[in-house]
Amino acid sequence: MGYNEDYKASIENPEAFWAEQADNIAWYKKPENILEKTEHGSYKWYADGELNTCYLALDYHVENGRGDQVALYYDSPAADGIKEAITYNDLLARVSRFAGALKAQGVGKGDRVVIYMPMIPEAAVAMLACARLGAPHSVVFGGFAPNELAIRIDDATPKVIITASCGIEFDKKIAYKPLVDKAIELSTNKPDHTIVVQRPMIKAEMTAPRDLDWNACQEGVEPAGCTPVKGEDPLYVLYTSGTTGQPKGIQRDNGGNAVALNYALKNIYGMQPGDVWWAASDVGWVVGHSLIVYGPLMGGCSAIFFEGKPIRNPDAGTFWRIIEEYGVNSMFCAPTAYRAVRKEDPTGGLSKKYDLSSLRCVFVAGEKLDSSTYTWLSELLEVPVLDHWWQTETGWPMTAPLMGLPDPSDVRLGSTNKPVPGYDIRVVDGEGNEVEANETGNIVVKLPMPPGVAWTIWKSPERFTSSYLSTFEGYYHTGDGGFKDDDGYVFITGRTDDVINVSGHRLSTGEMEEVVSAHPAVAECAVIGVPDSLKGELPLGLILLKAGEDIAEEQLEKELVQMVRDQVGALACFRKAVVVQRLPKTRSGKILRAILRKIVANEEYKMPSTIDDESILGEITDQLDQRGMIK
Ligand code: AMP
Repeated sequence: MGYNEDYKASIENPEAFWAEQADNIAWYKKPENILEKTEHGSYKWYADGELNTCYLALDYHVENGRGDQVALYYDSPAADGIKEAITYNDLLARVSRFAGALKAQGVGKGDRVVIYMPMIPEAAVAMLACARLGAPHSVVFGGFAPNELAIRIDDATPKVIITASCGIEFDKKIAYKPLVDKAIELSTNKPDHTIVVQRPMIKAEMTAPRDLDWNACQEGVEPAGCTPVKGEDPLYVLYTSGTTGQPKGIQRDNGGNAVALNYALKNIYGMQPGDVWWAASDVGWVVGHSLIVYGPLMGGCSAIFFEGKPIRNPDAGTFWRIIEEYGVNSMFCAPTAYRAVRKEDPTGGLSKKYDLSSLRCVFVAGEKLDSSTYTWLSELLEVPVLDHWWQTETGWPMTAPLMGLPDPSDVRLGSTNKPVPGYDIRVVDGEGNEVEANETGNIVVKLPMPPGVAWTIWKSPERFTSSYLSTFEGYYHTGDGGFKDDDGYVFITGRTDDVINVSGHRLSTGEMEEVVSAHPAVAECAVIGVPDSLKGELPLGLILLKAGEDIAEEQLEKELVQMVRDQVGALACFRKAVVVQRLPKTRSGKILRAILRKIVANEEYKMPSTIDDESILGEITDQLDQRGMIK
């Protein structure tokens, strides 16, 4: 079937379409209950099926003759060029052993495990071992500061935290264990144990009996088998930024995730068992879950596990070297990485040193793909560069070209392409009425969403409903704005809420505002996203000082930068703060952040009818202009 037939079938009769797709994975017990509406208005799939995600990712392939194939190629330019090729046999043995060690520490079905690790193979082993036991993991990106880790620990209440002695950021070794110790100190719900991978570059200090060594805790343990779980049982909880300071624990189920990723890998990415796939991201993000670990392994591919930066060790040819060395067939990456490569090597001369003939196409997502990066990349690689759009909440793409179908939809420049089967995408105005083609509005998805998409927030189903399902009755609210053209191609223009995207990382400005407001000199503040040619967006703080405060702007900026770094993490890239006299507000007292964003981006804006005092806008424009902040 081609794109049109698949899409039509999925929308006209979702239950039949996804029941058929469910037949493509190996269940212990096939689901009878294909689709069910929850009492909170969301929909879950395959609730009563029984399966194990780790079985599908490892045991299944070993049982079917794929044991000697490489499952993961670990390549770490960051850690002095270490490389490792781990076969399915080997990975299964490692995961079973480590799952046995977790079991010995009392971790069982339903218990949570937090993973705070760099891109070392042990991170994949830890995730898969949790899946094997039916224990939902929650991976926290290694760039998050202890305070952020503590918030996630308190929400997930893990029995165990798995970490490593250090991560590597560019050429800097960052000790992780002290960050974990600090996070545990800050948290109310202390885990029973931490398990620590000791890397050779930095040795972590261990405190008995809480801290256990990764190797030592596996000695003499019985390898663990797969625990069957229900389709609706959570595989993982992944925290993502919302509009408030409290991150949302996006809960992904085992059944929907397995079926959706199996469908996506073959039909969107066009990957077959034995192919080599590379998602250049981190296990701390949804891409890491879906496209570094679970998707490619369930699909019987060989996946690259890359620890490094595209422009280092030794140069901006690193991406091309990896493609040649492992014969990568398809890769995924956020556009920001290609912008960084292009900055270092504008002509792309380094790519000519390598044989890139294995590459079939390149997928990009996570942030807007600008046309100049698109043109540069497609001319350089001479393969299709395919933009597609998804979110942590969905776990897999909502719009994409379907490269695995015999008749995919054509690709359209500037668009993230057509809705993927299962996603009935609409564009609505503020009142929820559908707008005409080419008119910008809120992008929503008609319920039910397809399998794999989250249907609840960890321990907080009401929050799922209030965040996603209550703004527009009967629709899932994506938080993105954009339009559909005459042929139904989707164009994403950006977030409609206070979430910003820095180097493809989703961050809440509300979270940063909470940190900035805690400074003793700050009366009020607004943090907004400013366009940046390399990182997509960067945060900017607009600060109102308390009366009588005379702290120098430079000093204040320095202190605020440090505070955000310490409490949110270096990944926020908060480097600029400007003191202003007043902030523009509505008559009801809401800061007009959308207008501020337009001012710094030097875009035209309509004066909102609800503004309290228009003169503030001119005043702020002058101040930002003086500091050279206007694009
Ligand atoms: P995350 O949940 O961190 O994956 O971030 C999801 C958000 O990233 C989306 O809601 C969009 O705002 C943005 N995004 C993802 N993919 C694209 C894309 N291809 N083009 C534009 N924005 C994107």
